[in-house]
Amino acid sequence: MDVFKKCFDFTRAKEVQASGLYPYFTEISDVDGNYVEVKGDKILMVGSNNYLGLFDDPQIKKAAIDAINKYGSSTCGSRFLNGTYSPHVELEEKIAKFMKKEDALTFSTGFQSNLGAISAVLGRNDVVIVDRMVHASIIDSIRLSFADVVKYKHNDMNDLEDKLKRIPEDKGKLIVVDGVFSMEGDLCDLPNIVKLSKKYSCRVMVDDAHGVGVLGENGRGTAEHFGLLDEVDLIMTTFSKAFASLGGFVTGDKTVIQFIKHQARSLIFSASITPPALGAATKALEIIQKEPQRRKRLWEITEYMNKKLTEMGYHTGNTVTPIIPVFIRDDEKTFTLWKFLRNYGIFTNPVVAPAVPQEDSLIRTSFTATHTDEELEFILKGFKEGGKKIGII
Ligand code: PMP
Repeated sequence: MDVFKKCFDFTRAKEVQASGLYPYFTEISDVDGNYVEVKGDKILMVGSNNYLGLFDDPQIKKAAIDAINKYGSSTCGSRFLNGTYSPHVELEEKIAKFMKKEDALTFSTGFQSNLGAISAVLGRNDVVIVDRMVHASIIDSIRLSFADVVKYKHNDMNDLEDKLKRIPEDKGKLIVVDGVFSMEGDLCDLPNIVKLSKKYSCRVMVDDAHGVGVLGENGRGTAEHFGLLDEVDLIMTTFSKAFASLGGFVTGDKTVIQFIKHQARSLIFSASITPPALGAATKALEIIQKEPQRRKRLWEITEYMNKKLTEMGYHTGNTVTPIIPVFIRDDEKTFTLWKFLRNYGIFTNPVVAPAVPQEDSLIRTSFTATHTDEELEFILKGFKEGGKKIGII
């Protein structure tokens, strides 16, 4: 049997491409603020995780360029050997201070942060307990560990407790959860997760890829939002969203971070964050602390758009964040509305199974602090005309 048989048999992408409704790997030929160019059309971006609008901020660009000028384009090696530069260490110190934790460790992507941290702390005698809807990187991290996995129904605390009760006491237990769920924009029930973690002697890790920089009075994320920074053992995030860079970090107690540093294979056997990405992330951390008005604007936009889309007749689920899912609950209509919006000049992301349950297909919109009032009205107009034309609203 040819190992490539499955590749030759894989025709689904080609079929959808032929139908003209293929929405993935869209080639962007130019970027101008909130607009991108696709096949010669200028399209308003409503599908990026650039929450604070920092990716083209002059301060960020300068920091990235300065870092290239000083350190070059790459470290050409792992943190473990030749790839630990002073800016890595300085950024980790700043993160730990900002997040009010003892220590922090940076990785080259958010995905690698989860892979490294989770697979390092979990061993054969451990059980990891996760919400059914956690990010793919958490699921893959667990596969790399030798721990048993227990999944509970999305944000269902009765189910979580039910599952926790059945785990033998001599097992090490870690609950891993997304702070903000990346497709639906809802928050995990952190207060009750923390309560249950204490009752059943579990550690808690929050993947706050969409929370840090966005939620909490000072931008420290979901744990700060709930006043539970001290109660969460490990917080992870990415630099590819609010920080407008590439990389990620895990923060927590010194002893645990030091252990992860010496065990995480995605850190030890992979090149460290590049100097320009480090420069940008470090500057973004400074801006997150110095410019709270960006968060304020983002929250105004979030509330306004959620209210308007709901009034129009769309269902946006339980979102309370700048990720506003527009539930269509029919794959064909989802792709048709996506295509209508794309032709209208609005870039969104259609999301279907397996990224969401089969019956929950949706158009994922995500907002940016730099979206103007005029741009918001244009987006609403597009959704209104598209929804009516396709018979959704
Ligand atoms: N966790 C969550 C919840 C995410 O949404 C993402 C990115 N989509 C990641 C982890 C991975 O982050 P990165 O893109 O930096 O690899």
